[in-house]
Amino acid sequence: MRHRNGATDATPPPRPSSPGPWAVAALCAGAVGLIAVIDLVLQARRWPVPVVAVLDEPAHLATAALLLAALLPRRARGLVPWALAGAVLIDLDHVPLYLWDAVAAGVPGRPVTHSLCTVLVLAAVGLLAPRRVRTAFSGLALGVALHLVRDLATGPGAPLWWPAGPASVTVPHPAYLTVMALTAVLAVGRHLRTRRVA
Ligand SMILES: [Zn+2]
Repeated sequence: MRHRNGATDATPPPRPSSPGPWAVAALCAGAVGLIAVIDLVLQARRWPVPVVAVLDEPAHLATAALLLAALLPRRARGLVPWALAGAVLIDLDHVPLYLWDAVAAGVPGRPVTHSLCTVLVLAAVGLLAPRRVRTAFSGLALGVALHLVRDLATGPGAPLWWPAGPASVTVPHPAYLTVMALTAVLAVGRHLRTRRVA
């Protein structure tokens, strides 16, 4: 059947237009800028825990989104919502420490669940789980790994190798910001290449 605009039932629906390169560049630069500003504010003084949480989670989302945009293979796009969720939800493991801290001050470091062990457990469940939940667990594993990228460079670091090594691992904050800036450049370059191919 031919419609008034000339399309027929056999005409494929129009592809949603992808954002232009300047829009993507602005988004990526904005994400890096957001992370830098949030970290400046966080380092300016000692904030109450709820304020830290409100500031820290958008920076985690920006970190995860940049790394996914730059590095995640297109065929794995189904992982994105789960990875973004995992990049934030892992911080729920702080809640028991905060409750404990309310009665016993001075609990050092981040919880041991902030480690590659959690990533491996989630990834293993993702491999072994029924097909319908495989994507969810694989995405959550990826999200926790992306979360650790930021946590290694902020506060007390993270017990990355727990239980093999309980010590917190840290990386210099400027190195993290540099990696994020390079990741943003990669993401923009990837977008440009994808548009050229399409
Ligand atoms: Zn964390």
